[in-house]
Amino acid sequence: MKPDQITILGATGSIGESTLAVLAEHPERYSVYALTAHRQADKLLDQCRRFRPRYAVLVDSTGASTLAAALKAEGLSTELLVGAEALVAVAEAPEVDQVMAAIVGAAGLPPTLAAAEAGKRVLLANKEALVVAGPLFMEAVRRGGGALLPIDSEHNALFQCMPPGYVAGQPPAGVRKLLLTGSGGPFRHRDPTTLGAVTPEEACAHPNWSMGQKISVDSATMMNKGLEFIEACLLFATPPSGIEVVIHPESVIHSLVAYEDGSVLAQLGPPDMRTPIAAGLSWPDRIDAGVSLLDLVAVGSLTFEAPSFERFPCLALALAAAERGGLAPAWLNAANEVAVAAFLARRIGYLAIPAIIDRVMKGATLAPAESLDAVLAADREARRAAEALLPIYAA
Ligand code: NAD
Ligand code: MG
Repeated sequence: MKPDQITILGATGSIGESTLAVLAEHPERYSVYALTAHRQADKLLDQCRRFRPRYAVLVDSTGASTLAAALKAEGLSTELLVGAEALVAVAEAPEVDQVMAAIVGAAGLPPTLAAAEAGKRVLLANKEALVVAGPLFMEAVRRGGGALLPIDSEHNALFQCMPPGYVAGQPPAGVRKLLLTGSGGPFRHRDPTTLGAVTPEEACAHPNWSMGQKISVDSATMMNKGLEFIEACLLFATPPSGIEVVIHPESVIHSLVAYEDGSVLAQLGPPDMRTPIAAGLSWPDRIDAGVSLLDLVAVGSLTFEAPSFERFPCLALALAAAERGGLAPAWLNAANEVAVAAFLARRIGYLAIPAIIDRVMKGATLAPAESLDAVLAADREARRAAEALLPIYAA
């Protein structure tokens, strides 16, 4: 069998590296077509040495000439492409079978959408792309005729628990409820009066998962669960009333599907993204992900609680956006991206994140998400609105 050709968008990130770790175990099944990075040229060079892709893409031109020279000097046949348009080219190239969408934020939308339109098998980690483009993205997947495999651990779990032969984007038969689990992040028990002084380092110290900075902050505010709620509505063609968020601090059950007959199916595993990545790559086959067996005795007990919307206002804001639909999720996501970046840059405090998103959402002009242009315009407008609020909340 000819190996599948894989493009990894966001190869130098946490998901990108975990994907390469799985691919490295199965060279007979997969070969790397393209690896992309925003500006980490050194890391990208190292990945090119190890995986010999046909193309490497660097979005930021700084460091590109040094990288091109290094590739040449080392006798690597990898060709370097520069700029955001090159992301689209390596996502939709006819040689490509599967595209791992692992860029962080709405910046990943154009190449991920291009992969869907081109009928690729899209492995979706980049939840923001789906949240922003919503039904337009799902429509692109249908038009393209490829497949959409959820990689976010919760959605991969839900997908695995769906009826046999289930295809993402269709309403699942016989299902009563989707139960979306979340750990509650590092501040589940923290005294709320001390949250104002939280540092980026504290917010990024997730108790169970090691991830990129943006999603780590989103996990602390639980905006991550909110984005995942919207993601689940879209992936599984389910209204907000059909999804429930449950706090499960151990991160062992990655989500559950409750059926009409009272059966509840769950997917369990160690908190390691190589599992959903391997499941997505090989589905419906199974391959070794290099993950050790879950030790239930060592885990001991699994606990559950209801989420607190007072403690996690970002979760409430996201559920409200899910209810409003249309362009509301695009506004929510853009405001969150601006606020989280400002928090990570120490320009605003932690509690300014929900405050800014709330104010942006109150001023949002919410039309239906009719076209990609409308979505991109909403994204730009929301970013401007959030940026304008930053000085008011300056740390
Ligand atoms: P990360 O910050 O570790 O990596 C992000 C990658 O995207 C890097 O390769 C970076 O070079 C690239 N990138 C950043 N900005 C870019 C831009 N403007 N244009 C092009 N490329 C850009 O992030 P991550 O933790 O790997 O997360 C990636 C995506 O996967 C996010 O959407 C996140 O929500 C989702 N996700 C991550 C995890 C996890 O465990 N890390 C779990 C579930 C879902
Ligand atoms: Mg997740």
